[in-house]
Amino acid sequence: MISIQQLHKRFHDLEVLKGITLSIEKGQTAVIIGPSGSGKTTLLRCLNLLETPDKGSLSIGNRKLEFQENRKIKLQEIMAIRKQTGMVFQGYNLFPHLTALENIMEGQVTVLKRSKAEAKQKALGLLEKVGLKDRGDMYPHQLSGGQQQRVGIARAMALDPEVILFDEPTSALDPELVGEVLKVMKDLANEGMTMVVVTHEMQFARDVADQVIFMDQGIVVEQGTPNEVFGQSNNPRLLQFLNKVN
Ligand code: ATP
Repeated sequence: MISIQQLHKRFHDLEVLKGITLSIEKGQTAVIIGPSGSGKTTLLRCLNLLETPDKGSLSIGNRKLEFQENRKIKLQEIMAIRKQTGMVFQGYNLFPHLTALENIMEGQVTVLKRSKAEAKQKALGLLEKVGLKDRGDMYPHQLSGGQQQRVGIARAMALDPEVILFDEPTSALDPELVGEVLKVMKDLANEGMTMVVVTHEMQFARDVADQVIFMDQGIVVEQGTPNEVFGQSNNPRLLQFLNKVN
């Protein structure tokens, strides 16, 4: 489903991704962990071309892109990849002037050209799915952070992506609201959605991940099942990181 080979990304003098190679199967949940600044968010943003990698290749579904410095990626190619990837952000990024329901309808109408009636029907179903059936008419500021993030997840799902990318989806939430968002994500994973999740929630990684990817200083240091990464690895950088977060 997703395959990346030798992906590199630099910001000026700082090489943030130093040759990342990974593959994620359809229906898998891959959880990316690692210290602050290790390049997790940058990697996720490269997957939907919010950042353009400098070198390497990326394939998602039936689309494949090769990157080379000084070669510009065509907008068409970017849009084709974006269509396959939904994104859920740390800060929700909902449109403040639209209700929860309208937020979930917006992309369906503008990007997928669905009729308003069809978009509304889909949005209502998704609101119910994320446990917010009775909150559709509320504006983001009238919702808790956890509720806003659940709307964010419903909005990503509304575009029927092949994969959903989650960038620290619970980091901005009060601790008591984290569980409701993780529950929605867990349900999605159990339904077979392909997901890539950057998170500091180690318990979620243990319980839900098919594959855990530990990054440090721009490289993948360790990857495997939760059991392998959390239980069997002797890698000193991983052990040091796990000691700090646990
Ligand atoms: P955190 O857990 O703190 O979010 P991270 O592992 O997700 O960290 P990134 O956000 O990918 O790390 O950042 C990796 C490095 O790249 C950091 O040093 C960051 O300052 C730098 N960086 C990220 N985006 C940019 C940018 N647009 N321009 C310049 N530097 C950037």
